Amino acid sequence: MSTELISQDTIVALATSPGVNGAIAVIRLSGSKAIEITNGIFKGKDLSMQPSHTIHFGTVRDGEEVIDEVLVSLFVGPNSYTKEDVVEISTHNSNYIIERLIGLLIKQGARAARAGEFTLRAFLNGGLDLSQAEAVADLIASNSAASHQIAMQQMRGGFSNQLRQLREDLVHFASLIELELDFSEEDVEFANRNQLRTLVTNIDQIVRKLIASFEQGNVLKNGVPVVIAGKPNVGKSTLLNALLNEERAIVSDIAGTTRDTIEDEINIHGITFRFIDTAGIRDTADVIEAKGVERTREKMKQARLIIYLFDPTQDRMDAVRQQITDVEDLRIPFVTLINKSDLLTEAQRLEYTDLKPVYISAKEQIGIEELKDELLAQVNLAHINTDDVMVTNIRHVEALQKTADALHRVLNGIDNPVTSDFLAMDIRQALHHLGEITGTVTTDDLLENIFSKFCIGK
Ligand code: GDP
Repeated sequence: MSTELISQDTIVALATSPGVNGAIAVIRLSGSKAIEITNGIFKGKDLSMQPSHTIHFGTVRDGEEVIDEVLVSLFVGPNSYTKEDVVEISTHNSNYIIERLIGLLIKQGARAARAGEFTLRAFLNGGLDLSQAEAVADLIASNSAASHQIAMQQMRGGFSNQLRQLREDLVHFASLIELELDFSEEDVEFANRNQLRTLVTNIDQIVRKLIASFEQGNVLKNGVPVVIAGKPNVGKSTLLNALLNEERAIVSDIAGTTRDTIEDEINIHGITFRFIDTAGIRDTADVIEAKGVERTREKMKQARLIIYLFDPTQDRMDAVRQQITDVEDLRIPFVTLINKSDLLTEAQRLEYTDLKPVYISAKEQIGIEELKDELLAQVNLAHINTDDVMVTNIRHVEALQKTADALHRVLNGIDNPVTSDFLAMDIRQALHHLGEITGTVTTDDLLENIFSKFCIGK
């Protein structure tokens, strides 16, 4: 286990987000002096005499000057998030108060926390394993029912438990095989090769299933990348606005929510659809036709789903069919949309039925619900059970892939017999890569890399 990153300092940071209009801010301290340091500026009960998991009202002061009236929550280690003594001070949410308080706490001996340092401590002190720590960041970033549920499950240890079980089974065999090494002169087999083959095959199947879950896990976590394509003037930007505006209307009902971070996303039944390269749609002025076609193809390739619009009042049937053939070539699921249906007669409509399009009018907002149903159907996520363990993290997939490679070498080694030491080495490698996910095996660099992406205060 890493030692470089373990520090005895008591750390302090704002745990709520800075600069947002909320009533309350929470300043968090963790470390052996957390309670003593808070006591130094708090007037009320003597915090060092209070039991864990209690809340105390009082004032915080700089000398005689009262800076705020606060509530102090106490969590005495190891019964806390970081397993150390933790104090959370709830103040009024004023940047001035927050700066003054953190300044005072630092003067009393605390140190400003680095990004992710609270969660790093939770990990180093055994409160969370690495994949659970990563899930904390995912949970905070989650913005749909699906991404929330996956992060929650991972944080609560679903993924870790599955990996732990796999590791335990392998460790058992690794030790039997290593025992054979001690008797290598005598040609004994403690580890039954057939049992080992069955075990490794089972583990390999589970690992593969986890790897395969990444594609959908990633989509659930980060949203389905969608491209809206079609010739100029078919109504792409009108449609985009229709989809996004409806969403905005819903979201802005919730007081104080900001749209900034989810600018070009919509949420359909808990699944996020992320429209990519919408700047290109809005800013049609700079699209030169020839270049435009190439660019459109390029951007369609980045999508997991394409919405292809036609304007039947402009395009002839053969042109429509040609474009559909072009899109089919990309082998990406797509939805055929006949727009401007408000201008079509019933007879004109019938011409397109064999293309199984969704008829909409982006301008009149007709057919939008059918379009949404079709989007959901196309990504085929309905059958996904988010209770299943699902991999959403590229680091985990890479480790699983290396695990699978090592397991294959083990299987090969059993079938084309190699000596026990080779088998033992490959099993150890599989264990190593499984351990990287939960952090049983780790390096300071890896931890720095993971935790530096957290916000300060997490
Ligand atoms: P884009 O170039 O594909 O983004 O097309 P726009 O969204 O800018 O639309 C081009 C023109 O078609 C605009 O004048 C829109 O008002 C019009 N338009 C878009 N959707 C519809 C629709 O469903 N019905 C009708 N009648 N006009 C539409």
